[in-house]
Amino acid sequence: MSSPIWHPFTQHGLNEPIPLVDRAEGAALYTADGRRIIDAISSWWVTTHGHGHPRIMAAIAEQAHKLDQIIFAGWTHQPAEDLARALIDLTPEALTHVFFSDSGSTSVEVALKMALGFWRNRDEPRHRIVVMEGSYHGDTIGGMSVGARGAFNRAYAPLLFDVDCLPFPDSGSEQLCLDAFEVLCRAPERPAALILEPLVLGAGGMRMYAPWVLTELRALCERHGVLLIADEVMTGWGRTGTLFACEQAGIVPDILCLSKGLTGGSLPLAVTLARAPIFEAHLSDDRSKLFFHSSSYTANPIACAAANANLAVWREEPVMERIEGLVRKQAERLAALSGIVNARQAGTITAFELERSGSDYLSTLGPRLLAFFRERDILLRPLGNTVYVMPPYCIEDRDLDRVYGAIADAIVEIG
Ligand SMILES: *Cc1c(COP(=O)(O)O)cnc(C)c1O
Repeated sequence: MSSPIWHPFTQHGLNEPIPLVDRAEGAALYTADGRRIIDAISSWWVTTHGHGHPRIMAAIAEQAHKLDQIIFAGWTHQPAEDLARALIDLTPEALTHVFFSDSGSTSVEVALKMALGFWRNRDEPRHRIVVMEGSYHGDTIGGMSVGARGAFNRAYAPLLFDVDCLPFPDSGSEQLCLDAFEVLCRAPERPAALILEPLVLGAGGMRMYAPWVLTELRALCERHGVLLIADEVMTGWGRTGTLFACEQAGIVPDILCLSKGLTGGSLPLAVTLARAPIFEAHLSDDRSKLFFHSSSYTANPIACAAANANLAVWREEPVMERIEGLVRKQAERLAALSGIVNARQAGTITAFELERSGSDYLSTLGPRLLAFFRERDILLRPLGNTVYVMPPYCIEDRDLDRVYGAIADAIVEIG
């Protein structure tokens, strides 16, 4: 039976099967036709503790009976107040204000608008944004503008705004990236902000770079008065082995974007955290200086309750121990694979390329791998030639073994 649904990142003309999932628990998805699928990419990087965490599910149910939704301009509610306070306590002291939205892309839009508003309200208008080669910051026009250009956004390129791009700090050529940034900082038209994904470029192919590069970029931002926006939408909530990736570089950004794991992966919610001067640049008795952004579901109470429950899980369960265990198990299994190149790991994420293949996203390899894993009841979604494993922290050993077993078979059969 055909469906009227138009799926994201899906070429319906290829008639690839679209499994119907009706239940999930831990690292497993259960399809309507009775299959058990291992979710080895945390349902597109959102599920941290596993599907259906009882504490988060209970908080959602409880909140739904109290307050479902309320306008957030000029009104507030306890789940949002508690969450904002908890996020401020959890993150470095310099981050003092929390702006809510509902997806990673909007948290980035908000960050960019905060940065431009900051300069504008100080009567030093700046609008150049510096980005890192190969980045991904979402699929809205602003998010695409600051992200890598390619086949996936070619049709919209005429509408994307111009940015300055730093070469990726590959091991051995980090200085090229730092030098390029310094040149831009000294240019007559000073950048408003540098936006980057700390340590790991997710959708750009799980490319990883050293924490010291981030430390140096932060130092350059400070020296030249350029705002640093850290997009931790993917790297946040333990993914890279620490709660946030910025910790490994010992830096605090001016603006921090969080989403995906914020609710443990249960409901859509995002926050953009800002340092006091950015908030204060918008603080005035002049209404024209207020921050002009909102979405209908800003700080939805049920989503905030889910995020509060997620934070309680972090506080009260041995989440860091689970992550450390997974980091070790991922390293062991990655080391045991042969026929791969560029094997790399950042915390709970492993990635590599197959030895004998090209690297174009639209090449046939990605879809063939996708089908191969789907037929073996494993949810892996290679980025072109790049295979990566990013499971929920609760994944059991035998499921992880099945994932790596299927990868080993794929290398032999289609690599
Ligand atoms: C997923 C992602 C986004 C976009 O988040 P959505 O919730 O899909 O809009 C932005 N930045 C990074 C680094 C991401 O991984």
